[in-house]
Amino acid sequence: LGAIQINGLTRKFGIIGSPVKHSFSPAMHTNALQSIGLNAVYLPFSIQKEKLPDLLPSFELLGIEGFNITVPHKENIIPYLDQLSPAAQILGSVNTVIHTSNGWMGYSTDGNGFLRSLKHEDIPYQQKTILMIGAGGAAKAIAVALAQVGVKELIIVNRTQEKADSLATILKKAFPDLAIRTSLVDTDSFDLLINTTSVGMEDDRSPIEDYWIQKSDYITDIIYNPPKTTLLKKAEQFGKKTLNGLGMLLYQGVEAFEIWTGQPAPEALMRKTLLDSLHNIKSMEDNQDK
Ligand code: NAP
Repeated sequence: LGAIQINGLTRKFGIIGSPVKHSFSPAMHTNALQSIGLNAVYLPFSIQKEKLPDLLPSFELLGIEGFNITVPHKENIIPYLDQLSPAAQILGSVNTVIHTSNGWMGYSTDGNGFLRSLKHEDIPYQQKTILMIGAGGAAKAIAVALAQVGVKELIIVNRTQEKADSLATILKKAFPDLAIRTSLVDTDSFDLLINTTSVGMEDDRSPIEDYWIQKSDYITDIIYNPPKTTLLKKAEQFGKKTLNGLGMLLYQGVEAFEIWTGQPAPEALMRKTLLDSLHNIKSMEDNQDK
């Protein structure tokens, strides 16, 4: 990509969070916006929780058209928004906001982003039996997206059982026909296994015993750094098709881009920018180790 175009007419997007300094999104979105000929930039904003009440009027004043939200504000932002998408409403969490003539509208693109990453790899998920490990924020977003498209059965297991149970209760309330349970039985087998826990991100552990890995056709992990977790390595040894979390990161951004611009996102370029950012982090880490 050539030099960034920036002048008095430049449109403005961004990301809020605390911290935001590690985010790959400013590079990914600015490159994407400019590559399709839009005079626009995407900037990081480090925002503390106590500043949230002032945020939206300030953004409106500054002409910021839309933004992403990362930890720890995905839930905190909701009281300040004017409308929510159905998924954001069920989740009580928002990662993408756009300013419209009806005010600030909140979406959650993480769950659908994950499904789009499966679709891109021809991994089937509709009307399938799915084992999801974890019951945190990402798990919730993926579970809602799965429930929206329809699954045969969703099994959610988590280290803290009560969290899996309370997620199942939320899902059952929003989707009364959903087949869901929160424990495994020995006869189970699955079409798709999804790790949504952080196990494997900073350690070499697998989030589940090999026995269950062997019982699924496809094994996916939403962790993207490292690109191949212990879970995915084991799955490959068992001859399973695997997928890491880079696609989820990419497609949550693709969906946000489409919400803001109304235009198809330049997926290939966005993927390349993410891979470059990951590569840069790895080089920095390797240098620190020396
Ligand atoms: P979260 O809300 O804090 O949930 C963390 C989940 O991991 C919970 O289910 C937690 O279980 C489980 N967990 C944590 N440490 C564990 C351990 N030592 N043993 C067993 N389970 C453990 O976090 P989140 O936002 O959902 O994120 C989870 C992971 O997804 C992170 O690695 C994050 O980087 C990744 N992620 C990726 C994307 C993407 O775009 N690819 C997007 C979002 C998140 P308990 O309930 O028992 O604590």
